[in-house]
Amino acid sequence: SKVKDMSAEVVDSNPYSRLMALQRMGIVKNYERIREFSVAIVGVGGVGSVAAEMLTRCGIGRLLLYDYDKVELANMNRLFFRPEQVGMTKTDAAVQTLSDINPDVVLESYTLNITTVQGFDTFMSSLRNKSFCPSKEGTGVDLVLSCVDNYEARMAVNQACNELNQTWMESGVSEDAVSGHIQLLIPWRNCLFCLCTSFVCVFIVYIDSLNHTSFVVASGVDERTLKRGSLCRIFTYYNDNFITKKYTQHAIGGVVAGLLVQNTLKFLLNFGYVSPYLGYNSLKDYFPTMAMKPNPQCSNAACLERQEEYTLAKPARDAAAKAK
Ligand code: ATP
Repeated sequence: SKVKDMSAEVVDSNPYSRLMALQRMGIVKNYERIREFSVAIVGVGGVGSVAAEMLTRCGIGRLLLYDYDKVELANMNRLFFRPEQVGMTKTDAAVQTLSDINPDVVLESYTLNITTVQGFDTFMSSLRNKSFCPSKEGTGVDLVLSCVDNYEARMAVNQACNELNQTWMESGVSEDAVSGHIQLLIPWRNCLFCLCTSFVCVFIVYIDSLNHTSFVVASGVDERTLKRGSLCRIFTYYNDNFITKKYTQHAIGGVVAGLLVQNTLKFLLNFGYVSPYLGYNSLKDYFPTMAMKPNPQCSNAACLERQEEYTLAKPARDAAAKAK
């Protein structure tokens, strides 16, 4: 009789229930706004697919999914995709699963390579499309999540977001699947090109030295020119842990996706603190954070334009703040 019968407290299947609870607790002011937001996810792999599922279960308004790949049996050591989906494009398979989970979410599937001229153009025009919420200022999406696994694709997302003045978040999982990171990038504040031309990259390499993707992003090295062996030698400390990859890939993908979605919700619904950079080293249970400044010597022209616009608008911002 001490065991409480929970059957009366039927679990609320309403996708907004978690956010509703946050509102009841006074953390989120208006959870229903989640339905008005559009999020683009580039890369529907180990991180992107899980982030898409989490946002779908939260009741996000619209998800735009981009990936060029098909589901393979090798992907079954991650979360999300099912064996019967092998051979489908990742974006179509994701739309199939997500629409079953929450049919209210508007889902758009883009099977394309964002680093090709045509793929990049389609990517840009889809981000500009405001048909979902015409009253919105700026682009047609509220946030872009980069969940890709290579330097070129990250830089393509970065370029598009700089040109569109689009806030985005970047994520990465280390090659040995024991660490990862997320990053908030606001075009006037900083971008990955800023990091490539600043001393900050040294710091990133230091604190995130387990993560070869960050190393490549930060140093601007063309990762196609790097063999896995040489990356291993760079980070010899973790050489032995490559064996963990098979076992920990779904877990680290889930952790990074969780951090990414939590930060996405904080950013969209305006609660808590959205870290500019948050790392996770699972071997030491270490979560490094840091802040980044814009680099006035950034090599990217669109980034410099955004920085200039921001500086020029400062007097108007100050006046508006005073008037409040
Ligand atoms: P693995 O690299 O371990 O074989 P994966 O290819 O699924 O796994 P993940 O790191 O899990 O890689 O996910 C990254 C996703 O980003 C992949 O689905 C990949 O197809 C996608 N991706 C990478 N580059 C691009 C690109 N240029 N355009 C579109 N999608 C991309």
